[in-house]
Amino acid sequence: MKVIIGAFAHESNDFCPHKTTRAMFEFYEGQDVLSHLPVADIFQDAGIEIIPTIYADAQSYGPVEEKTYLYFENKILDVVRAHPDINGIWMFCHGAMNVENIGSGEYRLACDIRKIVGENCVISFGMDLHGNIEADFANQVNIFRCYHTAPHTDQVDTYRRTAQALVRYLQNGYKTHCQMRKIPMIFPGEMAATTVDPFKGIIKVMKNMEDHDPKILCASTFIGFAWTDAERTSSTVVVVPSAPEYAEYCSQKADELADLVFSKRTEFDFEMLSLQPQETAVASLYELQPPVCVTDMGDNPTAGTTGGSNVLLKEYLKFNDKEKKVLIAGIFDKKAFDICTAHAIGDTFELTIGMDIDEVTRPVPVTATYQGRHDVLGYTIPTTPPIKRCEGVTISIGSIDVVITDKAYAFTQQVNFHSCALEPVKYDVFVTKFGYIFPELKKMGKSFIMSNTPGESYQVITSFDYKKIKRPIYPIDQI
Ligand SMILES: [Zn+2]
Repeated sequence: MKVIIGAFAHESNDFCPHKTTRAMFEFYEGQDVLSHLPVADIFQDAGIEIIPTIYADAQSYGPVEEKTYLYFENKILDVVRAHPDINGIWMFCHGAMNVENIGSGEYRLACDIRKIVGENCVISFGMDLHGNIEADFANQVNIFRCYHTAPHTDQVDTYRRTAQALVRYLQNGYKTHCQMRKIPMIFPGEMAATTVDPFKGIIKVMKNMEDHDPKILCASTFIGFAWTDAERTSSTVVVVPSAPEYAEYCSQKADELADLVFSKRTEFDFEMLSLQPQETAVASLYELQPPVCVTDMGDNPTAGTTGGSNVLLKEYLKFNDKEKKVLIAGIFDKKAFDICTAHAIGDTFELTIGMDIDEVTRPVPVTATYQGRHDVLGYTIPTTPPIKRCEGVTISIGSIDVVITDKAYAFTQQVNFHSCALEPVKYDVFVTKFGYIFPELKKMGKSFIMSNTPGESYQVITSFDYKKIKRPIYPIDQI
């Protein structure tokens, strides 16, 4: 038997004013794909031959350009066309890829693959729980399951479970499809961390289904991605039967899980203290135990924002208290980055920070002392070594240190800071462009604020002017 494997993933923020281009994707093809997708041994142990396609993954940003999507999709389809007798296909796809003129990238890919391979091939996808799943998706893909953690720490487990499920279907000749239900609710991810209830309790129910019910192979709740304006934008539950005869049983279980999730809709909330920007500065400087970790939720590049908001910088500049050391890592502003790198380390000069592309990036003038320039390293999943993500310059503005980056990037891992010779625990306050508190941030801070800042990942989603989302939907509509 043979399976084709690959990854094509993106989370597209419709409120980001820019498109995601081909150059933004981390891209491998051929055998290099295998080292980025830790599933090869599962197929090899089952005596199944692996045909790799591509690995293409980009940080969240605006909708994917149509020509970029087609470039990568054709690379996958070329491999599929070259193996018309393929038995199975395993892919990692995010679930929230929105493509210019096309819509859901995952759905289009699944349909195009299905047209080539027909109904005899079993298709299995590992996905992110922030995916917005097209209503017809389960008719195209036999098996899919998403992460059970947000912040995400179980990517590898999800890849492997969906690969093992594919092997089980192939070895037994199963061709059945999973059971899926759309749920009329949508939340920003930050209000749906799996570390706190109600999502923590929902995960427990799903884990029980997977671990103790022999009729169920996988159970998932996609919370969805609030910053895509599409008819499919909503939460979704999926139950994968362990054998075709349990399809009806899993249909009932999918109904029960959907009812459970929807019944909890009023309980979703932030996992930590959430404050407005002005309150964030006061509380973090003078009221909470340092080091205080602050996340700039409205400008979270991992949710597809521009990464250039200086809203919190402006709040801390109002104080610039000599007794309080503040680190802001980072702010994307290529022009400011280039001005800094034209200077020598130690120089002090006038600088404006802010790309001036929207309300949250209006420039702010500062007097900066240039401290250093570094490659910012980071990993995609903890099992892969950190690689260069962007470059950053560190400047000091009085007692405030700021990392200005040449690309949008969220500092969430210790290696991000350490590669810039920065130690967050030595600051009273450190600010990062992220949403919920990533596990490594929890290790570095003693207190936490999820700052409800404006931006393209603004948490008050009822304020967005959605045009296409299917109504009614909670909490935009009080259903
Ligand atoms: Zn996600």
